[in-house]
Amino acid sequence: MGGDRLTHLFFDLDDTLWDFEKNSCAVLHELFFEFDLSQKLQTDFDTFLAKYKTTNQQLWQKYYRKEIDKSFLRNHRFNEAFKQFNYDNYNENLLVTEQYLTRSPHGTHLKNGCIETLEYLKKQNYQLHIITNGFKEAQRVKIDGSKLRPYFSHIIISEEYNLTKPDEKIFRLAETFANANKHNCVMIGDNFESDIEGAVNAGWEAIHVSSENNAPFQGKTIKNLTELKQLF
Ligand SMILES: [Mg+2]
Repeated sequence: MGGDRLTHLFFDLDDTLWDFEKNSCAVLHELFFEFDLSQKLQTDFDTFLAKYKTTNQQLWQKYYRKEIDKSFLRNHRFNEAFKQFNYDNYNENLLVTEQYLTRSPHGTHLKNGCIETLEYLKKQNYQLHIITNGFKEAQRVKIDGSKLRPYFSHIIISEEYNLTKPDEKIFRLAETFANANKHNCVMIGDNFESDIEGAVNAGWEAIHVSSENNAPFQGKTIKNLTELKQLF
């Protein structure tokens, strides 16, 4: 790879290409009715969804503060949401969890403009790749189910290499796979810490995909993937 031209575009998967929020919401909607939660919790889906989201966020914050581990988060979050409606059923919570985790990766909703943008970038002869933090099985199901695979030369799933963004090593590994150097690479992602800071620390360019107006990044920020068509 000669020169310093940006030729390799590395994308994050969850909530950058694959619409995690939309796919997760669709599964929660199915489960809400299958488990008859409107009766058990005496509420409607939207109210449940709002409570579930807040509960989930609070548990993730505890996880980041290392107050709980991932299996606690995974195995208690539905029951914690149930409890907000005076319903406490740990075993049923585990059944919902199992279904939620099995079904979620099969969602096929992509972020707005995803395919048209990837088509455009391919036509401009950019090499496209994915670097995703996640479990290999779930990430592969998402990538294949939503027909993303043909667009990408290299797909790096953190679990396969025991490295996670923002660790600089995963960006160096990506350069090796792509036969690129840091001047050829740009990372495009929604997570400020793992995608953006990680890439910038590795000497890459980075583009933050964020719908918030006051995103903390001084560099390039886009709200929608289609804006990449103006940048490349
Ligand atoms: Mg993401």
